[in-house]
Parts: sequence; C-alpha cells; structure tokens
Amino acid sequence: MTSVAPHKKAKALKPNSRRPAKELCSECGLCDTYYIHYVKEACAFLNQQIAELEAEAHGRSRNLDSQDDWYFGVHQDMMAARKKQPIEGAQWTGIVSTIACEMLNRGIVEGVVCIQNTKEDRFQPKPVLAKTPEEVLAAKVNKPTLSPNLSVLEEIEKSGMKRLLVIGVGCQIQALRTVEKELGLEKLFVLGTPCVDNVTRAGLQKFLDTTSKSPNTVVHYEFMQDFKVHFKHEDGSIEKVPFFGLKTNQLKDVFAPSCMSCFDYVNSLADLVVGYMGAPFGWQWIVVRNEKGQEMLELVREQLDTQPVMSKGDRKQAVQQSIPAYDKGVTLPMWAAKLMGVVIEKIGPKGLEYARFSIDSHFTRNYLYVKRNYREKLESHVPEFAKRIVGQYKLPE
Ligand code: FAD
Ligand code: SF4
Repeated sequence: MTSVAPHKKAKALKPNSRRPAKELCSECGLCDTYYIHYVKEACAFLNQQIAELEAEAHGRSRNLDSQDDWYFGVHQDMMAARKKQPIEGAQWTGIVSTIACEMLNRGIVEGVVCIQNTKEDRFQPKPVLAKTPEEVLAAKVNKPTLSPNLSVLEEIEKSGMKRLLVIGVGCQIQALRTVEKELGLEKLFVLGTPCVDNVTRAGLQKFLDTTSKSPNTVVHYEFMQDFKVHFKHEDGSIEKVPFFGLKTNQLKDVFAPSCMSCFDYVNSLADLVVGYMGAPFGWQWIVVRNEKGQEMLELVREQLDTQPVMSKGDRKQAVQQSIPAYDKGVTLPMWAAKLMGVVIEKIGPKGLEYARFSIDSHFTRNYLYVKRNYREKLESHVPEFAKRIVGQYKLPE
C-alpha cells in the first residue's frame, strides 16, 4: 500500500461567500473544498502560470517560435473525428463521454469527475464523481454555465481512489494541475474541452431570452462554424441566429468577468482536448497534448471516423473589423446580419483558420477588457503566447 503525505487543509468557504478572486472568480469549485489552502497559487485568476504547468504536465511549454503552439498549445497530434455511432443527446458526437466510459469499463480509472444537471434545471451543473458508465452518460451535453467541477475534490480523497479521470474546462484544469500532487492519486488523466464566453445561470437566461425565439425549450446550443448560433429545441427543431445579429449591446455584460479575462480557450493543461472549432462542420476537433492523451484516444479509435485537420481562408481582416464593432456594441439589422453570415460562410476561414479566427477575436476582446478593468494585472495575467496573438492587431485605446 502506498501512503500519502498529509497535505495542508483549510476550511472551505461557505457557498455564497466572496471568493479570493472576487468578481473574477469562475466558480471552479476549488474554494468549496479544503484545497482552498492552495488558492493563491492555484487560482487561474490570481496566479496565471500556464507555461510552468505545461512543462510539468507535458514535459515542455509552448514553443514561442511556432504559431501553431501559440494557438493550439503543446501538442503531438491533431485531427478531425466523429463517432461512427454518435451518442444521442451528446453535445456533438459524444467522444468525451465515450472515452470516459471506456476508461471505467477497462478499469483504467476508478472514477470520473463530470457534470450532470440538477433534477429541476437541465442547465444547472451538478458535479459528480461517477463510478459507472451510466453515471458518465448522465453527464453528457454541455451545461453552458460556470460549473464548480472541483467541488468534488474532497470526495476523491475520502473515497480512497487512486486512478481518476477529470473532465473539465481550462480554469478548472489550471487549479487542478496545481493541487494534483496533493490528491493522493497514483494516476490522473485529464480530458479537456475548449471553453469560451461562459455565463452564470442568470446570465444564461438573459442570453436565451434575448437571442432565442423560444428560450424555455432550448435543450442545447453551440456557436457554430457557419457563424450562427444553433439552438436545438425540445421538439428536435434547430433555430439558427447569425453571430452578427446578436444583440451585443444587451449582451455585453452577460459573459462572466472570468471568461472576459481568460486566455486559456484551448485548455492548455489537459492531456487530451476534444472540441469542434478546428474541424469541418459536423466533426469534432481533437488535440493530443502528450502520451496520456494518446493512450486515451487509442481506447476509442476504432469507434471513430477520422481525417487530417485542414485550414482555409484568411481570418485577419475579419478579426480586425470585429474589434471596434464589438467595442462599440454594434448590432446589425437581421437582414444585414444574415447576408454577412452567408458571405463570410462562403469565403471565410475554415478548419484551423476558423479556430484561429475565434481565438483572435476573443483574445483581442479579452485583452482590452483586462487592460481597461484590471490594468495592474495585465502584464502577469496575459500569457506570452496570448500577447503575441493580440500583438498582430491594432487595438483601440
Ligand atoms: P459529451 O459526450 O456530450 O460530454 C460533454 C462533457 O462536458 C460531459 O462529460 C460533462 O461532464 C462536461 N461538461 C458539461 N458542462 C460543463 C461545464 N460547464 N464545465 C465543465 N465541463 C462540463 N469547443 C470548441 O471547439 N469551441 C468553443 O468555443 C467551445 N466552447 C465551449 C463552451 C463551454 C461552456 C463548454 C462547456 C464547452 C465548449 N466547447 C467548445 C466544447 C464543445 O462544446 C463540446 O463540449 C466538446 O466538443 C465535447 O463534445 P462531446 O459530444 O464529445 O461531449
Ligand atoms: Fe477559488 Fe476557483 Fe474562484 Fe479562483 S476561480 S477564487 S480558485 S473558486
């Protein structure tokens, strides 16, 4: 039996008390546990340390001479993939849930940290330590709200588990990586998704109310590569709203301040990342960061169709034009938004170039947000790779 050196503990914060990162808190869950002891070091919004943690997790940090590293982080492989038999009701084709189920079925891990929803509300996240594939499948589909994934960390130690898979987004994974050594685990696997523009539950309601024609029947939505938000409704119908027609003036404050100051869109510290934005429409995008990530992907390889990543178009002008438009909160009339969507879809960036478009637009916006609201944090909070990405554009003061 291995013995674990006792780690330092502190008292978890009460649910509604102010968090150390104050309004920048993304409710990652760390402060709901005694691991709050490590918060000054671990919190993604108090101590940005992506390069150091990359070196620990992947054996190296981003190569700043490589633009692919700036954008997609440390990686050894990338591809587009989709499940031959998609999981009904998953966010995309269910690659994330399938990997987690395989890891449990084969005994590679004993538990999976994932996010179910509460009984009353399909979008209210409920972090769980799943021990069966059924519990993992009950966590399929995004709960597009801030989610305290790490609130189950104390449960892991109490359960005595030694091999664990954690599914999560960038800010949760940064904190996890910092306390990883304190969890008493023999093996930790991290399966990440990209994440951007997240909201509180109240913010989500405002977004649905201002954007969808039928906010109460939305079961799932995604900002798609065709420059439209696709809302899936309870009856299976799909409602499409062009990005350029979003009521940016009303939605400006809807995104959480944490997400307006985040530069870890691509989940730099996960072993394997599964998203969609670097892949053709209908496919998922897979980034393998290290050998553990490769091991996880191999478990489901036979269940996937795959194709190499591709890149087409030039995003730079569209990004430059979007900067002042967002800044001023311009909303196009719906007919113009639709027209612009059609034109951009025909000639616009595709594949990895679409992913770069999305990263550039969000990083320039977030850089301005941090500069205006947290100037004293700008230098240390913005990672070097993000400064180089933002440096390609002309920003307003
Ligand atoms: P599924 O098999 O349906 O599994 C989804 C998994 O997500 C579940 O295991 C669940 O535990 C976990 N989960 C659900 N809600 C949360 C949450 N709030 N926080 C942490 N984990 C959660 N991809 C892109 O390429 N570009 C984007 O801009 C992008 N934005 C995203 C924004 C948010 C808020 C989230 C949660 C994800 C985002 N993704 C983005 C990832 C993408 O939407 C899919 O989650 C991913 O491709 C996996 O799809 P799947 O069908 O394999 O997942
Ligand atoms: Fe604590 Fe996480 Fe909030 Fe930081 S983001 S203050 S670690 S709950």
